Amino acid sequence: MAIIVQKFGGTSIADAEKIRRAAKRVIRAVKKGYQVVVVASARGKQTDQLIADALELNPNPPRREMDQLLSTGEQQTVSLFAMALDAVDYDAISFTGGQIRMLTDGVYTNAKIKSIDAERIHKQLDKGKIVIVAGFQGIDENENITTLGRGGSDTTAVALAVALGAEECEIYTDVDGIHTTDPRMFKNAAKIEEISYDEILELASLGAGVIHTRAVGFGKKYDVKMHIRSSSEEKEGTIITHEVPQMEGVVVSGATVQKDMAKIGLVGVDNVPGNAAKIFACLANAKVVVNDIVQTEVSAQKANLSFMIGASDLPAAKKAVEGIKDEVNCERIFVRDDIAELSVVGVGMRTHYGVADKMFSALANAKVNIDSITTSEIRISCIVNKDEAGKALEAVCLAFELDKPAEERGRGS
Ligand code: ASP
Ligand code: MG
Repeated sequence: MAIIVQKFGGTSIADAEKIRRAAKRVIRAVKKGYQVVVVASARGKQTDQLIADALELNPNPPRREMDQLLSTGEQQTVSLFAMALDAVDYDAISFTGGQIRMLTDGVYTNAKIKSIDAERIHKQLDKGKIVIVAGFQGIDENENITTLGRGGSDTTAVALAVALGAEECEIYTDVDGIHTTDPRMFKNAAKIEEISYDEILELASLGAGVIHTRAVGFGKKYDVKMHIRSSSEEKEGTIITHEVPQMEGVVVSGATVQKDMAKIGLVGVDNVPGNAAKIFACLANAKVVVNDIVQTEVSAQKANLSFMIGASDLPAAKKAVEGIKDEVNCERIFVRDDIAELSVVGVGMRTHYGVADKMFSALANAKVNIDSITTSEIRISCIVNKDEAGKALEAVCLAFELDKPAEERGRGS
């Protein structure tokens, strides 16, 4: 019997009515002949509330205790979900991450999955039960509860789909799929019907916020078909799948703005072997995740180095670079936290020219200044002033016609 994993995000199960509606989706899949595994997030804003509760008591709560606390949000949902199914005579059983031995490393609040005991789930499915698993959580080898990082239930769902050999992983959410950009920032953003893992990885890690990046990483590695769709509407959503040749016809698939970022620059570092290594060793020690590193030699003696980080890592990163400043003979450190990163992404960039020109011209016409530019094979990103981000995004979306469905933007041209 084919297995399907259905993941419900917090807004799709926020109250009793919505849990009932989600349960109906599950029942429909059962009626189609699937064995169904449900992955549920915490209800509504519950995780935010738990974080606020923690911070009220301790501005810097121990991470282990944080995970112990946050995991309870999902634990509540799964039992409620099982009760809702029982109420309409469907046999369901709920599990925490620990109960299905969702084994992770020991990095509290951002743990990575190592293995899952699929047997326990298969046994229940074979008994005819619907299995409901708490998203976002696991246990480490010492039985401590861990969580996978905000939005981590998506990753639980895809990891389960892999472990169980599921046919598809459906991700139910409060939007009808993935759009070319965030519709709250650009209201005419078009819905995307099909997109590749690589594009979504770039868009998600750039702050598109639709799906947990690590979930897509898993999806890509094991080729899991992922379907992001609305929990309130029937229509098809967005399929995330491996790249197919037609996808290259679309030059830009989506655009994003990431606002919670900061940039640190080290001006006039001694231009000698080992300095970059020293600086990034300090940042690694401080557990700071670094993006978009740029180093330029300004003379035979000196180099400038800058990099981007998440805004929440700024205090730790600042402390780290201040600690190494004298050792690398850095003249000055500068920090910007008033920036946003605007990016366009598309596998079609590999084969089309003029993409950078179009983006920079759109920004120039909108009179938006570009601080720095970085690129990958399928992405161009510009750092702009945070207060100009909305205007910049709109200009770029219009330039690449992201208000139109992909076919109308000249697929195959
Ligand atoms: N409840 C967790 C969060 O809000 C995990 C999730 O929803 O995926 O981040
Ligand atoms: Mg989510």
